[in-house]
Amino acid sequence: MKKIILTGDRPTGNLHIGHYVGSLKRRVELQNSGKYDEIYILIADAQALTDNAENPQKIRDNVMNVALDYLSVGLDPNKSNIVIQSSVPALTELNMYYLNLVTVSRVQRNPTVKQEIKQKDFETSIPVGFFTYPISQAADITAFLATDIPVGDDQLPMIEQATEIVNKFNSIYGETLVAPKALLSENVSSQRLVGIDGKAKMSKSLNNCIYLCDSSEVVRQKVMSMYTDPNHLKVEDPGNTKDNPVFTYLSCFAKDEHFTKYLPEYKNLDEMKAHYERGGLGDVKCKKFLYAVLEDILTPIREKRKYYEEHLDEVYEILRKGTVNANKKANETLKMVRKAMKINYFDDDSFLNEVKNKKAQ
Ligand code: ATP
Ligand code: MG
Repeated sequence: MKKIILTGDRPTGNLHIGHYVGSLKRRVELQNSGKYDEIYILIADAQALTDNAENPQKIRDNVMNVALDYLSVGLDPNKSNIVIQSSVPALTELNMYYLNLVTVSRVQRNPTVKQEIKQKDFETSIPVGFFTYPISQAADITAFLATDIPVGDDQLPMIEQATEIVNKFNSIYGETLVAPKALLSENVSSQRLVGIDGKAKMSKSLNNCIYLCDSSEVVRQKVMSMYTDPNHLKVEDPGNTKDNPVFTYLSCFAKDEHFTKYLPEYKNLDEMKAHYERGGLGDVKCKKFLYAVLEDILTPIREKRKYYEEHLDEVYEILRKGTVNANKKANETLKMVRKAMKINYFDDDSFLNEVKNKKAQ
């Protein structure tokens, strides 16, 4: 069986360092591992419209921003297809058929959707399209016969839902679709990186992000304003590294070589943490180190972004080609699905012959 990756992001804003450690970095590693036959990265504009129907310009603007983020972190258009979701109509049709395989109560049980409904203050005014987006995501995954989905842990319920749809479809209509598996980041903090406010998941909707395209000065300001341990008032006070986003970020981003380069008095994060916990290490020093580490990672990303910002025609062509390839694949799957569901009336003359035979009997 082919090994195929499908993943994506909603073009609701620029991508942030939570996306980077939760999914983007892994995608680039997988892409460069040479172990995958096909890779599709979806800019999920149709999904973004499910809760942004009144704001089409925002989604349109962010399609290009997300494409620039992708290319700047090292997604390579020669190895990965970057696809605009709404330009692959087969996805919408698959979604339509899958809606019949899921109950309302099943969708209501999806913990990520539940939390998002609360977060967005939807109460009873949830758009039906938003409510059912896990089903459209199953269409995205299965259309490409994807086997591996690198995502953050908020997406696990979606992969579970997609797997249930695959199993139900295959059991009713015969073996057609492929069940996907989620690939989570190995670092648990990276699976759902907290925001700079330390409160919730870093998320475009929550205004608590460090963006991949933030300037060096903006990153400095955001790091310096980060929430830390509120009881660590004086440098000598013992500090808590557990619910302290500065240390969470360091655990996701800092490597031993960063210590050699920027903070040689510690060999590694464990030594630094021990000092903070027993007292005597100030927040400002920790934040300055985190800033240096982030800059080390973000500088090459910014440079690549600059190149692509100056070559937008090239980016547009990359999107066009990726979307053409995606249509080819999704149409092949749709053809199999239609056949399995017995709605392929015009593929050949079997429908007409069947009717004639029945009449002749
Ligand atoms: P929105 O607020 O519009 O939902 P978002 O920031 O949650 O935006 P998505 O486009 O919904 O981003 O998510 C894209 C991918 O990034 C998913 O795989 C998701 O799991 C992952 N992801 C998003 N935020 C984080 C985070 N803070 N930590 C780890 N992974 C994340
Ligand atoms: Mg989200």
